[in-house]
Amino acid sequence: MNRSGIAAIRHLALDMDGTLYRGKTLFPETVPFLETLSELGIGYTFFTNNSSKSVRDYVTHLNGMGIAATADQFQTSTLAAIAYLKRNHEWAKRIFFVGTASMIAEFEEAGFSACDEAPDMVVVGFDPQLSFNQLCRGGYWISRGIPYIATHPDRVCPTDQPTLLVDCGSICAALEAATGRPPEAVLGKPHPIMVEEIMRRHNLRPDELGVVGDRVYTDLAMARGVGAYGVLVLTGETGREEGEAAMPAPDLIVDSVGELAGMLAASRTGAV
Ligand SMILES: [Mg+2]
Repeated sequence: MNRSGIAAIRHLALDMDGTLYRGKTLFPETVPFLETLSELGIGYTFFTNNSSKSVRDYVTHLNGMGIAATADQFQTSTLAAIAYLKRNHEWAKRIFFVGTASMIAEFEEAGFSACDEAPDMVVVGFDPQLSFNQLCRGGYWISRGIPYIATHPDRVCPTDQPTLLVDCGSICAALEAATGRPPEAVLGKPHPIMVEEIMRRHNLRPDELGVVGDRVYTDLAMARGVGAYGVLVLTGETGREEGEAAMPAPDLIVDSVGELAGMLAASRTGAV
């Protein structure tokens, strides 16, 4: 375990589900942890692959759980997809969406328009109310050769309900089976654009950014990909044994964000 880099951290990218809360239950360490970051002058950005909610919805969601947050503190797979299109397909403005009204509204605010006919691109996200017609029309445009991207790779969205939430990766698998075409890009974690945007926004070097999450193959893989400091928390889907054997190896494994708060505070006083 490498603790030498913790003193360089100026900003944290914080996964949400499994890191700050589970489902609808906020971890008791979360609010004191965020207060410690503010006291230490360490900034933070909440980040998530779930593209069914817009940033506006996430602000409401976190505020409702008792976490103070503003819109400029989020990085989502929807924002990563918008950044990708602006960087790589500046000409693409008319989009056929397989996604929620909330996701579509966020694209429209960024200058794109939703259309049913003659799209420049197809964008596939996670939509718990996905209609068969929407899926089939998306497949039609993809079969006609229109380029398409996916907001994130997750095959299943975690839930504590007796159901399986078929997520964006699985929706794309259906479209690929039907059309023979995979998406040209899959944004969200572990795509590096997720944290590149955070580094650009806050003018950070990779070693000044810590990525905190509960999943090795998304959160930690992304940290490693850009050279950021990767912190695995054991409050979500990864156990200690699995975390210690994981590749890429986390720079730090902590039981919870509470333990991380103590270590960051100690690193500022020279105790680590
Ligand atoms: Mg998580």
